[in-house]
Parts: sequence; structure tokens; C-alpha cells
Amino acid sequence: MQEASPQTAAWIAENWRRVQSEVAAAAADAGRDPNEVLIIGVSKYVDIDLTTQLVEAGCAVLGENRPQNLWNKADLLKAAHREVQWHLIGHLQRNKIRRTLPYLSWLHSLDSLRLAEALNTELATANANAASTTTPSRRLNVLLEVNMTQDATKTGMMASEVPAVVDKLLELQYLQLSGLMAMSSRESGGDETRREFAAVQQLRSELQTRVGDAARLDQLSMGMSGDYREAIAEGATMVRIGSSLWHNIL
Ligand SMILES: *Cc1c(COP(=O)(O)O)cnc(C)c1O
Repeated sequence: MQEASPQTAAWIAENWRRVQSEVAAAAADAGRDPNEVLIIGVSKYVDIDLTTQLVEAGCAVLGENRPQNLWNKADLLKAAHREVQWHLIGHLQRNKIRRTLPYLSWLHSLDSLRLAEALNTELATANANAASTTTPSRRLNVLLEVNMTQDATKTGMMASEVPAVVDKLLELQYLQLSGLMAMSSRESGGDETRREFAAVQQLRSELQTRVGDAARLDQLSMGMSGDYREAIAEGATMVRIGSSLWHNIL
């Protein structure tokens, strides 16, 4: 990894422009409005100085896969008066819930009902403590992470268990279930990747029918540096881009 310098700032700004225009082009190719696709800049590969350069280049929505790294970077950016919206994209251990929640706008990696229940309990407590103030009660946006490939080594819930879990999630009043997150079994894109993403979109649509008006499941977090074109073609609304943003840096 390079140390932050004017040169890295220039590279990062160029990478950010390139990723934005490639995402917009992929959306246009799919007949979609580019504004429907949120780019989450995944900062997990780099230190705080390089992360700050990405924020300065204009990327204000960041993702980390480890809670501890998210806390550290969020604290430092806040101290530097940088406005960033944080998304946790990796597994959240239950003993880290309390510490992590205050930072989060979105949790992409809801991977068990047990985690959902623990989050809901903690949010209920936090909201009760805030009730004496004017703070509005807070619901956390969550995406259910699904494993579409039946591969036990991969994270996420099996598609077959998802409908029953969704029914239970609707009862948890502090969680706002907003859609699904998934990863392809490959990293390089191609037809098989596209079929996998299409299956996630199909599952999302079946779940929407199932829940009716009880929730709007309109978010699909899928696509990374190697396969965001396929993901956008199949309806991704959030792409999680790491490596492409750190070209020349890593
Ligand atoms: C690291 C990571 C990404 C970004 O991957 P790149 O291939 O570097 O773009 C996306 N999603 C998750 C869950 C990750 O852990």
C-alpha cells in the first residue's frame, strides 16, 4: 500500500471518476437510471489517510467489513468534520452490536435471526433512553444476506430459509428490512454470475409479493469490482466497490 501523498490523491480522484462513469454506463446499458445505483466505496484495504482522500474526491458513502475498522475510521473522519454515511458489509458479532450501532446507516450482512433479534433488543433500549429527548425513534436499515450457491463455506442464509426468516423480521419493530445482499460465487463476472444475480432478484420479487405492504424490499446490494456490470444488469441498487477505487494504490 502506498502512503498518502498528492500523487495518491490524484489517482484516487481519477479512480472515483472512472468508477462513477463505468457504473453509469452499466446502468444506461441496462436501460436504468444511473441514479438508482448507489456506489459504496469499500475502504477496507487502506488506512485512514487514503480513506480520507477518497472522501475528499467526493465519495461520501463508505463500507467496511470489520466493525472495529469501521469504528476507528468513522471516529477519525468525524473528528475531521467529514460527513460520511457508513455501511457495514461484513459479519457483525453479537458482542459488537452496542458499539457498532451508533455509526451505522445500513447493515448489509444480516445473516441470522439471532443477530436480528439481538439488534432489535439493543435498538429498543437505545430508543427508550433517547425517548426523553426529541430524537425520533430509530430503525436500522437492514439487508438480508443470502447465499444463493448452496456453498456452506460462504456467508449468508440459504435461500430456502429466507421466507420464514423474513416473516419473523417483520415483527421486529426497530429493524427496517429493505432488501437483499448477495455475493457471486466467482469474482470475475460472466454468464454464471449473471444467473446468480438474476436468482437474487427473483427471490427479492417473490419476497415482496409475500410481504405485500408490510415492507418495501426494493434494495439489492450486489456487485463488486469484478462483477458490478452483471449485478447492475440484474437490478442491483447498491454496488460495493473496493479494488477498482484503489487502482495504483494497493
Ligand atoms: C471487500 C468486499 C467488497 C469489495 O470487493 P472488491 O472486489 O475489492 O471490489 C464488497 N463486498 C464485500 C462484502 C467485501 O467484503
